[in-house]
Amino acid sequence: MRKRIVAGNWKMNKTYEEALSLVSEIDNMVRDEVNGDVTVIVAPPFPFLQSVGKLTQGNDLMHLAAQNISEHDSGAFTGEVSASMLKSVGTEYVIIGHSERRMYHHEDAQTLYKKLKAAIAQGIKPIFCCGEPLEERDADRHFEYVGKQLHDSLSYLSNEEFDQVTVAYEPIWAIGTGRTASSQQAQEMHAYIREQLSRMFDAEAAHNTSILYGGSCNPSNAQELFAQPDVDGGLIGGASLKSRDFTDIIKSF
Ligand code: PEP
Repeated sequence: MRKRIVAGNWKMNKTYEEALSLVSEIDNMVRDEVNGDVTVIVAPPFPFLQSVGKLTQGNDLMHLAAQNISEHDSGAFTGEVSASMLKSVGTEYVIIGHSERRMYHHEDAQTLYKKLKAAIAQGIKPIFCCGEPLEERDADRHFEYVGKQLHDSLSYLSNEEFDQVTVAYEPIWAIGTGRTASSQQAQEMHAYIREQLSRMFDAEAAHNTSILYGGSCNPSNAQELFAQPDVDGGLIGGASLKSRDFTDIIKSF
């Protein structure tokens, strides 16, 4: 049975004190209100990983993610953070291929493949993001576009490596815009992604992979999205910055 996951991507938000308050609030609400079959992940900015991780370690439901990772192991790469560094402060998951990294930092498919390899080699589980811009959807090329993103970065992994991967479908037109994919649009893309994965890897691995939806997910629309058979949870941006909203999303399963 595949995992149900809700992951909060805090992006470049919060000071140190605010980050600790947010994670303590989430931690308390999750302990009191959430039953044990949801994996809750928080992805704070790099400088707060260790301190946030100390708080999440005491709660079996909560896990720590980084928002980015270097494809290099070590050396003269100013400003980069390696997989072994992330591992050494307790990072369990990492977001790879977010559309903001692809767009603003020009991360291409080959770079993303190297990042996937670097994370997996250190035992860090990648959350691999894919999703089409509005022009591709309007031109009815969204399946082809997402299929290529999956193929170009994931298909070179072995079955064992792929077992570590969670996929997040995040249509770019829905990220931070308040415009959500309908539950039908999400389901049909998630089913397509699973089908593509079953062609690249063994069918059981594809069946067991969690596929998260991301893009203006909030407490009002999460329940309908999560009720879809191929939607296994969410990658949440804006609504993960408020403990009440984030917890309500987690409770939407
Ligand atoms: C994201 O950036 O991963 C995201 C889903 O953002 P939002 O929820 O704010 O649309």
